[in-house]
Amino acid sequence: MFNIVLFGPPGAGKGTQAVKLAVAYNLEHLSTGDILRAEMSKNSPLGQKVKNLIEKGELVPDETVISIIGEKLRNAGNVVGFIFDGFPRTVEQAKALDKMLADEALEIAVMITLEVEENELIERIRLRGESSGRTDDSDTSIIKNRIRVYNEQTATVADYYKNQGKYVPVSNMGTIDETFSLLASEIDRRLQIAIKS
Ligand code: ADP
Repeated sequence: MFNIVLFGPPGAGKGTQAVKLAVAYNLEHLSTGDILRAEMSKNSPLGQKVKNLIEKGELVPDETVISIIGEKLRNAGNVVGFIFDGFPRTVEQAKALDKMLADEALEIAVMITLEVEENELIERIRLRGESSGRTDDSDTSIIKNRIRVYNEQTATVADYYKNQGKYVPVSNMGTIDETFSLLASEIDRRLQIAIKS
């Protein structure tokens, strides 16, 4: 299996690129944001539990997202690999992911961080909010709070993967297709190494 973490601040374009990579490499795309929003629109007990936090731009509790991902991993069946999008967002989540994968004799091959300048992030999220209807995308103070939460609680996850020699930064200041090519060449290089070893 070839498992990828796609990382980066809110609005960096993780979702857009993860969908394209999942198609190109036949990977199972796991987005905690998408899963949580689906629960919110069903108004399930889980959706009700996380709604308030998501709408404020705060993280939902580690146990909640860890158990969601654990269940997805257990029920995945025969897949080529996973692309994790929006998870892990804390070092606790990263450790739990490593443990859940290790239990199945699996690991993360690479963690790719999409890099976008902060002013550009705010603009991109606001623009997305106009069409997505996401309430957390429509209010500048909530957008700024999400970026603050990223800087304070999530950015350090990069160090966790740096220490494992798995961290790869990729600029996403260019077009969607340009970034996709950059990501694909990083992944292809590692796939070659994985096949040879
Ligand atoms: P974005 O990357 O644009 O912030 P996401 O769809 O990844 O959007 O996440 C939306 C919201 O869902 C986050 O602001 C957070 O409240 C919640 N969330 C998603 N993934 C996680 C996670 N791994 N840990 C905690 N909260 C999460």
